[in-house]
Amino acid sequence: MAAVVSLAAGVPLIRLSHVSKHYGTGEGIVHAMRDVDLTIQQGEFVAIIGASGSGKSTMMNVLGCLDRPSRGSYELAGIDVADKHGDARAVVRNRVVGFVFQGFNLLPRTTALENVELPLQYRGVGARDRRRRATAVLEAVGLGSRAHHTQNQLSGGQQQRVAIARALVTDPPLLLADEPTGNLDTRTSLDVLALLQRLNRDLGITVVLVTHEREIAECASRIIEMRDGRIVGDTHLREPVDAAAALARLPPIHDAVRDPEIEVAIKERSATPSVSRRAIPLSVFVGMWVGEVCGELAAMAYLSFILRVHASTTLWVGAIFGEVIKAWAGALWARRALGRRVTSDERWEMAFRYTIGVSGLGLALATALAMRSRSSEALHLYSLLDWTAGLLAHGKLTLLAVVAAAFAGIVVVRYALLWALSARR
Ligand code: ADP
Ligand code: MG
Repeated sequence: MAAVVSLAAGVPLIRLSHVSKHYGTGEGIVHAMRDVDLTIQQGEFVAIIGASGSGKSTMMNVLGCLDRPSRGSYELAGIDVADKHGDARAVVRNRVVGFVFQGFNLLPRTTALENVELPLQYRGVGARDRRRRATAVLEAVGLGSRAHHTQNQLSGGQQQRVAIARALVTDPPLLLADEPTGNLDTRTSLDVLALLQRLNRDLGITVVLVTHEREIAECASRIIEMRDGRIVGDTHLREPVDAAAALARLPPIHDAVRDPEIEVAIKERSATPSVSRRAIPLSVFVGMWVGEVCGELAAMAYLSFILRVHASTTLWVGAIFGEVIKAWAGALWARRALGRRVTSDERWEMAFRYTIGVSGLGLALATALAMRSRSSEALHLYSLLDWTAGLLAHGKLTLLAVVAAAFAGIVVVRYALLWALSARR
């Protein structure tokens, strides 16, 4: 991991000047940040402390480009991000910032390794490279032997380590952690702090951590205190608490419940998933269908009316063109709906569900038409029935195998088109 950005001499990693952030308007306006000036140099370990509601999370969201200041300027890694809209800010955020939250936010029923691979998957990194990098980071946080454990087989401290590994796998120079120890007992908190100190010391990662506990804040080399949206204290500690040493000084535990294995066993019984994979919305499938129909009709119209090509050719070319437009529309719509590039699993899901849905609908429609009249769609159904009957003559197994192979083939082709037509970044 190489987590240091090349900043020109004297340029701080973070520079907020006169930043204010308010929510709402008129009577109900909340000033979450008021005229904040803050400079953080690369390599610092900063704790932000303050009572609940003092603006710590708002500050973190602004620092991490998740939220834009209402007023003031913000330069991150020398880039003015207060002004940047949407995409440009997202690019800076993706390159510079890793996030860790109080609730870990790991995907359930997914292994530690897969969780850590996820940010790389979103960036389109290949499977082997992904595995190699995720394994290296998991080892760096001391979880090499737990790579294949799922969320409910890991203790709280281990889950937070996975979350830290996931934040670091893209090599960001800045790690932002909002109450990362808020759900952990003292011992586990110190353990996580020791890890953050090591990442800061050995890899030069700049750490900004939010906490409301003084003991945790004293592990940082600088403590910033917030009250009512303002910075009311900024102290540099000459000798921060060494979390690893503090952990070693704690008395040994006799309390059986603290045993990590037992903790895991208890959790396993009461585990509830915190975040779930987002389902592909129906609108994406509708978009694909509209894309297919439009593509097909446009190609057929062009071939038959302009080029005056034979009807059977227009059918084939139209179908192929419809497939391509559909995949393009699907990739685009899904990206809009999910706010990121679709993953490989999601492409399979799209190809599979679309094929099932459209075959089912198509068959139902053709049957309905066949029952009412001998229209051309109905004729398609009759030729389909003929074809089925022909195969059936070779036995039911042959019929089943051919239908399954045809279905699988269509799904694979659709997957491949979705893959080819999703933008890389
Ligand atoms: P902390 O993390 O220190 O507890 P926050 O930054 O979450 O504080 O909140 C600061 C103030 O801003 C609080 O009064 C909170 O109610 C308010 N606030 C935070 N987020 C929002 C929001 N999205 N909409 C309205 N008010 C908000
Ligand atoms: Mg908060």
